[in-house]
Amino acid sequence: MDTRQILMAMMSAAMLANAEVTMKKEWRELTKAEERVIVDKGTEPPRTGKFDKFFESGFYTCRRCAAVLYRSDNKFDSACGWPAFDDAVYGAVKQVPDADGRRTEILCNNCGGHLGHVFVGERLTPANTRHCVNSISMDFISQEAAAERLKKAVFAGGCFWGVEYYLQQMPGVIAVISGYTGGRKANPTYEEVCSGRSGHIEAVEVLYDPALINYAALAKRFFEIHDPTQVDRQGPDKGEQYKSAIFYADEEQKKIVEALIGQLKARQYKVVTELKALSVFYPAELYHQDYYFKNKKTPFCHSPVSRFE
Ligand SMILES: [Zn+2]
Repeated sequence: MDTRQILMAMMSAAMLANAEVTMKKEWRELTKAEERVIVDKGTEPPRTGKFDKFFESGFYTCRRCAAVLYRSDNKFDSACGWPAFDDAVYGAVKQVPDADGRRTEILCNNCGGHLGHVFVGERLTPANTRHCVNSISMDFISQEAAAERLKKAVFAGGCFWGVEYYLQQMPGVIAVISGYTGGRKANPTYEEVCSGRSGHIEAVEVLYDPALINYAALAKRFFEIHDPTQVDRQGPDKGEQYKSAIFYADEEQKKIVEALIGQLKARQYKVVTELKALSVFYPAELYHQDYYFKNKKTPFCHSPVSRFE
């Protein structure tokens, strides 16, 4: 950034800091202590927060508006006295220059609540980033509680790396897992699926927050990041394991997909996407997860195309 850009960013941060945030009725009412941090941008004393030494599996949400901010698999012990994460849920956390002119402040992207600060270059984890967050700005929901609140969608559109890459970037998407479904054997390996003989296809499981994004928006995006007219292939990847398919979890999802396919057919797209009831989804090997993000590459097998109005 040049000086002008930095000044502009600082001005917008100051404007944001001064702007009256309008409380929404669905937001939690804050205690005085919460308000001191979340609204007045205070900092809780180190080693006092309830999530400082807390490492259960689940999700961290905004204390005020309940948006999902962090996943427990990104939490690490930084020994600094506050909860630390090396990444946030995509699009959930906004970074702005701090009023002190040195640090970078982090805010809930949904309600603007103050979370803490982000530091880069400390080499504490491979991601080289530390979101230093006040415990009081967050709530925790366990995997079990998340299963009640969050929803799942399964899409197959060729190589899972590319589908994962684009769906992961939608606000409201909490996590995308690359994996296999539709085949005969439990826990297939990548080699077995690639052979084309196991009957599985490459797919992604999307975990999303229905309060922030709906299934129709996800399915629409899916139809625009892969080519639903290609039979048993997607770009350079050929074989039944790369076919276009949507695995619906309930009748509502099925109806939404049927309506979208209807819209595409009305626009002369010869859609071949198969619509199937969801069976078991098997996560793929770890090295396939977040492939493009980890390797700092962009997809060569998928690119977005507008197909709806
Ligand atoms: Zn919030």
